[in-house]
Amino acid sequence: MAYDEGGNLQEGARLSQVKSRIRLRFSGIVQGVGFRPFVYRTALSHGMAGFVRNDADGVTVEAEGAEGLVDAFVSSLLEKTPPLAEIHGVLRERVPPLGEKAFRIVASDATGRAEALISPDVATCDACLAELFDPSNRRYRYPFINCTDCGPRLTIVEDVPYDRERTSMSVFPMCEQCRKEFEDPGDRRFHAQPNACPVCGPRLTLVDREGRGIRTDDPLAWAANLIREGGILAVKGLGGFHLCVNALYDKAVARLRERKCREEKALAVMARDLATAERLVHLGEEERRLLRSPSRPIVICREREVSPVSRLVAPSMGTLGVMLPYTPLHHLILEKDPPVLVMTSANLTDEPICIDNEEAVERLKDVADAFVLHNRDIVVRCDDSVAIATERGPTVVRRSRGYAPRPVLLGARMPEVLALGAHLKSTVCVVRDDLAFLSPHVGDLETPLARDFFLETVETMQRIARCRPGVLACDMHPDYFSTRYALGKASSAVIRVQHHHAHIVSCMAENRLKGPVIGLAMDGTGYGEDSTIWGGEFLIATETAFERAGHLACVALPGGEAAVRQPWRTGASLLRGCFGEEWREIAGRLGLVPAGIDPAQIEALLRSGLNCPVTSSLGRLFDGVSSILGLCRRSSYEGQAAIVLEACADRAYAEVLPFVVDDTRKPLVVDLSAAVRKIVERRLSGEDASRLASAFHATVVEALAGTAVRLRGMTGIGTVVLSGGCFQNRLLLQGCASRLEGEGFSVATHARVPPNDGGISLGQAVVAASRLAYGKV
Ligand code: ZN
Ligand code: ZN
Ligand code: FE
Repeated sequence: MAYDEGGNLQEGARLSQVKSRIRLRFSGIVQGVGFRPFVYRTALSHGMAGFVRNDADGVTVEAEGAEGLVDAFVSSLLEKTPPLAEIHGVLRERVPPLGEKAFRIVASDATGRAEALISPDVATCDACLAELFDPSNRRYRYPFINCTDCGPRLTIVEDVPYDRERTSMSVFPMCEQCRKEFEDPGDRRFHAQPNACPVCGPRLTLVDREGRGIRTDDPLAWAANLIREGGILAVKGLGGFHLCVNALYDKAVARLRERKCREEKALAVMARDLATAERLVHLGEEERRLLRSPSRPIVICREREVSPVSRLVAPSMGTLGVMLPYTPLHHLILEKDPPVLVMTSANLTDEPICIDNEEAVERLKDVADAFVLHNRDIVVRCDDSVAIATERGPTVVRRSRGYAPRPVLLGARMPEVLALGAHLKSTVCVVRDDLAFLSPHVGDLETPLARDFFLETVETMQRIARCRPGVLACDMHPDYFSTRYALGKASSAVIRVQHHHAHIVSCMAENRLKGPVIGLAMDGTGYGEDSTIWGGEFLIATETAFERAGHLACVALPGGEAAVRQPWRTGASLLRGCFGEEWREIAGRLGLVPAGIDPAQIEALLRSGLNCPVTSSLGRLFDGVSSILGLCRRSSYEGQAAIVLEACADRAYAEVLPFVVDDTRKPLVVDLSAAVRKIVERRLSGEDASRLASAFHATVVEALAGTAVRLRGMTGIGTVVLSGGCFQNRLLLQGCASRLEGEGFSVATHARVPPNDGGISLGQAVVAASRLAYGKV
């Protein structure tokens, strides 16, 4: 037959025999996500012949059949891709038909990168859920039901390539029926590595706090009853243990807080279903989508005024972290009342989540009343992820279970680098080829256990990425554990990357930008190039380098680190900056300085400058204003004061207060002290805190956007990148983005990489790799 250039049949071919063949190349995350069986099944249902194959750059499909059927096949492929696939591009071309009769899955080259990609863990799919509650199904009420589209992945992986022998499922030989499903390309459990059933798979056990078995016919009914009555249940989940209590019952929540030594930090809840969640919080379309997504993160939502949930769950926050069940075990536990459970990772504050049965009983025996255990080992620790919905789409603020270790695609091949991240919200990142493997959330590197977890994660990520880079990247802060780890590796070259440059580049990498950009790094604190503490930075940045074009005016932090947990200290410093000597009298009227502390001591500290580091941090400025408004004077974790300030803001009210941008200096300085002064005066004359909180947000937005406009005037750069922990604040993020877009900027923000220090390792890795690539080390 004859074809024209487009591969279409030329006239003269006999229509009755018209067959066509198409070749499709899918790029993106299309391997290890059930894509080939999906293509296979779709091909069979459309009567196609041909093949599907993994190759170096993705998945290739060739399919032939009658002309119209091929098009229908293609549209059906593109319409319902598997939930885990992330298609970045599809190349289509017509090719001559070969007269094939059958459709095949072609074995791929095992040395390609294909098999190296490990999927994140996936929430139980609807098909499995239907079977779970179907009395006639052989997996009826089986807590470990899963299929090609759902179930554990990363958390059971011991090594790559990903197959059953290298997972913690290797100790469960499949029974005949499971094996048949596993080997049948037409079955929805084809190559589902954790496939199991009650005959051959893992089992639950219920034990008391001494680790002794509890005798009962129905462990789940027993457990549900314990929860209903206010007990604390430890449950082994996908990436670690949870502590669960009845979220509707004050006493139960109070006991949990007391035993877990977690006084204020909000606890997350798991609601039985979307309808139940809807009774607790306000849900927009984006929130609903996030809650139901296969990654099933905790979604931070606005709490309803009237909600059945105990006020002790998220005291005075205005928001509540909610998630939906994501394992069969969760669905079974939540089948009975209560319909809402507090679900918090089972660890003491600042320690990593527990994964091992014995370890859990040992560490939690004084916290939990009973344990639901099972014998499928958790290999990789993975906390629940946390996401927020913004007008610009979802932003992941803690990236872990359900997201990690899905790589960020860099768009170009890069030299290998291992980046070690920051100190708080630690993650690590390995760059290989065009992939950046960002680890699950490790946490704050404050305790020995957290540091062990960090070392464990360094190993895990190198195993998953299948490389051991000779080049390490780390922060410039000399005292970070991660920096010391990097510098201690004598055999490796170390590239140190400035903290806020790393923030901006993490966001550039996610958005595939090379720069130059105007980067707004609005943050807690990070070590600056001049050894001072930065945190409100305007950077002109590329992947390899940056210039500090501007920053917020500096504020002294009396007592240094202590100011993070005691925002009133920053408040006092702001007052002194605005009002001079008079500040003590004003602080008295605001009730700012806690009883038992003599303001004269603070005055002496500030005057001497001893233990009073200065910082340009926007995060600390938010803390200070929050304390001045009486919203938060002591915080039990970093960022609490700012979260409360955002929650307090009356969104309907946006007044811009005065501020000064001094661009005669280089770097230019943005000074918000005039706004702070106004806030203090109006607060003292009795104005509502929520209006002032709102005005402060509007002022910061105006100051940041206005400064970006000036920098565009100086540089001609029309792209702005927003990163740093402050952009977890929705008012700030949405305000800046829409204001900047209104000015004609193209604006890049975070979606899948956290804007906070959880994204730092990605930025470090990309800066280091691109310096190596361009010979700028
Ligand atoms: Zn499933
Ligand atoms: Zn079986
Ligand atoms: Fe930071």
